[in-house]
Order: sequence, then C-alpha cells, then structure tokens
Amino acid sequence: MCDHCEGSSRRAFLGAVGVAGIAALSGCLAHPPTGVVEHLPGPILDEVPHGPIPSAINEKTIVVPPTPPQNQWIPTDTALGQILPRSAWTTASPDSRHMMPMNGVKLITIHHSGDGKPFLGESIHDIARHLEMVRQFHRQRGFNDIGYHFAVDRVGRVWQLRWLKYEGQHVRPGRSGQRWNEHNVGIVVLGDFNLQTLPDVQQKKVIAFARYVREKYALPATSVKLHGELVDTDCPGKRLHTALAAARKEKLV
Ligand SMILES: [Zn+2]
Repeated sequence: MCDHCEGSSRRAFLGAVGVAGIAALSGCLAHPPTGVVEHLPGPILDEVPHGPIPSAINEKTIVVPPTPPQNQWIPTDTALGQILPRSAWTTASPDSRHMMPMNGVKLITIHHSGDGKPFLGESIHDIARHLEMVRQFHRQRGFNDIGYHFAVDRVGRVWQLRWLKYEGQHVRPGRSGQRWNEHNVGIVVLGDFNLQTLPDVQQKKVIAFARYVREKYALPATSVKLHGELVDTDCPGKRLHTALAAARKEKLV
C-alpha cells in the first residue's frame, strides 16, 4: 500500500453534496448513504485511533469475506466502457458519520497500490479480494473507508471504490498544511510500478479514465496529477511517472 496516502479533512464547510455528473460517471449515487450532513464530524476527525497503526497490509489481521457473486451486481456502462460497482468487491459500508462531502471536483490524482511487492492478480475474484484487503487496511489506519475513489486493474478494468460523493483519503496534507484531499478524485493503479511492468492495457486505461473524469468536470489537463507531484513520495512508481509524462507530451490526458 502506498504508505504516504493519508488524510481526513477537518474542513469546516457544511454544505450539501453537489457533484455534477456523478451518476453518469459511475453510478455512485445508486446506493447513497443517508444522514451525512446531519452527522458531520467535529474537529477531532484527523486524529488516529489509539494503538499501533499498521504501515502495510498484514494478511494475518485481515479476514476477507467471500467475494460477492457476479450475479449480484451489474457493471455501469459509460462512454469509456464498463465500471465495476463497489458491490462487486465488498458489501461493507463506509463510516458515513465521519465522511466529508466532495462538493465538487477540481483535481484528479493517480496512485499505485505500491505494496512493496508485485501485484499480478487479474481475475475478478483476485482483484475483489485485494480491494477488500486494502479497504480493511485503510480502516485499520483510521480511515473511514477505502481511501481512493477508483481502481484500474492489470487487465484494464475500472472499479468503483469510495463513493464519489465523498471526499477521499489518499493524499496527506502538504508542508504548508494544504489539504489535498479536498475536491480530489483518487485513482489507484493496482501494482507496484517501481517493481513490475505496467501492462499496455492498464496504462492506456488509466490515462483514458483520468481524461474521462476531468472532461466530466470540465477541468484542464493540468488538473491530472501524480501523487508525487503533490507531496514528497515516489508514488505512483517510476513506470507510471514515465507513462504520464509521455501521455502529457502527446496530449492524451
Ligand atoms: Zn499514492
């Protein structure tokens, strides 16, 4: 897991959720939790739980339930192809009492899962299991849910993770205290791209998907960032750094 991904928001803004285009993007409002505005958090939101905080996935502390059967979920069709819904990999809900509304999108940030070892899973089952492990790992670290909004797997599937109506937890605050998670869609590319190759289909999909999201929100190309361009981290790995540099040169992103 990308060890620099972090952060909840202490933002005082209490406005209603309003993310244009969200339903068309991913079907994120298909099962929106209720009561979010009534239960917004107090100023201790960024505090972490007592006790040790895991810095990497420990499979001994994580129990992965059976993968949801494929006849119990339906992918969302988009102009870019299908997006697999959250229900394809988990039945768990976020801790909605402490989730902050996204309230508009201004930035898109690309990560890798960066577990310090290659991740080569390709089947629906393998990916679903991995995502559930990441979700539990993030909950162990005190996050309210899996930190990212979308994942792109090794064979080019896009998965819905955190509901897009909620702010993510995928970039720690900057040195000047800048809260990078605000209005920031987090896309994680599954794998460690300092250690493994980046399959062409996965590379093309993350570039195309980042562009798709930014066009949904009428954002400039400069709104698509790598994690390491916001804070000091090597995420998303050298191969994704190279891929995005080439895509920018060719105006693909
Ligand atoms: Zn990252």
